[in-house]
Amino acid sequence: MKTLIKGGRILDPAQDLDTVANLLIEDGKIVCITSEEPEADSVIDASGKMVTPGFIDIHMHEDPLEDGELKQDISKSMLLMGVTTAIGGNCGDNYGDPRTILDTIDEHGNCMNLGLLVGHTWVRRAGGGTDKYAPVDDATIDRMEALAKDCLEKGCMGVSFGVKYVPGTRMEEMTRLAALCTPKGQIVTSHVRNDVSRVFAAVKEMDDLAKATGCRVQISHIGSMGGYGQMAQLLKDVESYKASGTDILCDCYPYTAFSTDIGATTYDPENFAEYNAPYSAILMCTGKYAGQRCTKEIYDWERENAPDDITVGFLMTEEDVDMALRHPLVVLGSDGLRKGLQGHPRAAGAFPRFIAEYIRTGKVGLMEGLAKMTSRSAERLHLPKKGNLKAGSDADIVIFDYENIRDTATFEEPALVPEGIAYVLIGGEIAAKDGEIVNAHLGKSVRYEG
Ligand SMILES: [Zn+2]
Repeated sequence: MKTLIKGGRILDPAQDLDTVANLLIEDGKIVCITSEEPEADSVIDASGKMVTPGFIDIHMHEDPLEDGELKQDISKSMLLMGVTTAIGGNCGDNYGDPRTILDTIDEHGNCMNLGLLVGHTWVRRAGGGTDKYAPVDDATIDRMEALAKDCLEKGCMGVSFGVKYVPGTRMEEMTRLAALCTPKGQIVTSHVRNDVSRVFAAVKEMDDLAKATGCRVQISHIGSMGGYGQMAQLLKDVESYKASGTDILCDCYPYTAFSTDIGATTYDPENFAEYNAPYSAILMCTGKYAGQRCTKEIYDWERENAPDDITVGFLMTEEDVDMALRHPLVVLGSDGLRKGLQGHPRAAGAFPRFIAEYIRTGKVGLMEGLAKMTSRSAERLHLPKKGNLKAGSDADIVIFDYENIRDTATFEEPALVPEGIAYVLIGGEIAAKDGEIVNAHLGKSVRYEG
């Protein structure tokens, strides 16, 4: 089965390639980029459009398992915004046993390819550490380590921490789990222990972890950790850790509002006070007060009665988020998190928004911006056949109208489909066309190969 993508402007940051040509796919793999017109079974006209590697989302939160299948809510949005490979299990949490989720995808397919991190919080709970504020004993750490080890052996892409959400986490737990990733080089990500003024010490803790174990670290959504006036210094810190030998990278989403559950430690009164903001900075996305800004009364009621309700916090500065997204040690990650169709628009808009608001406006160069969305994340994850258009790589491809691509998802309607994406191909087959899903089962499980 041969497919020819004809006449598009082909951009591939991994090869520093920018050319108008044809791209030939055979049996799910890229064969060549050529000025010739080889025979094919089907032809996709890409004239006037950009042809790039499918987007890689290094940081999202997967759909939960339901009745033995993976729900397809956020997954649909991922595919429709051009993400062909995503990494879930971030910020320490999994929405089901990651081994089961990967097996389920092997059986049923998925909207996009999905790899998973094994979450520290998830193994901690499974190991018996149910109090997030309390330390765990050594026997619990032993159980956590055994479970995480098995998940890594079954193909998880690394270990994630959500230390901010689990203040009882000790360095001992962190080193034991992080060290599991050192021999084969999986990544260790963290929603670090603190934000705002305390973010510097929190990111240093990850540098300490890297130096103690030799693991490769990823600072999650740096925009929402140091986006309150700390970014310039924080990025300098990251540069200095890198210069001192730590293999460190960060991700960020292109919005100035974060999203988390109302019951999360983020909103513990002493932590919320750090933002020096009114309750009205918080928008309730789900539950009894969905669509309303918080008052003291709503905040208290929600934390007491519905701690899992999702919020959006309008708290970061645009200057800091821009600074992060322009930095070479920061890649794009959506941090997509939703319950059904409710939540933050980043799950449906982060990638097209980055093109529209950052690349097209010149805030970030075209090739550099695309690298943040494709090759740099794939390399980070040790996925040599993803995120590039080299011969032999998986034919995961996005074809879009560069002048008109844009996100449409809003805080009121967070699942709206972006405009300007003509085709999304997974394994050489059309998964989405003109904003509609054609085949929701082309995605495969992504298992770490090292
Ligand atoms: Zn997080």
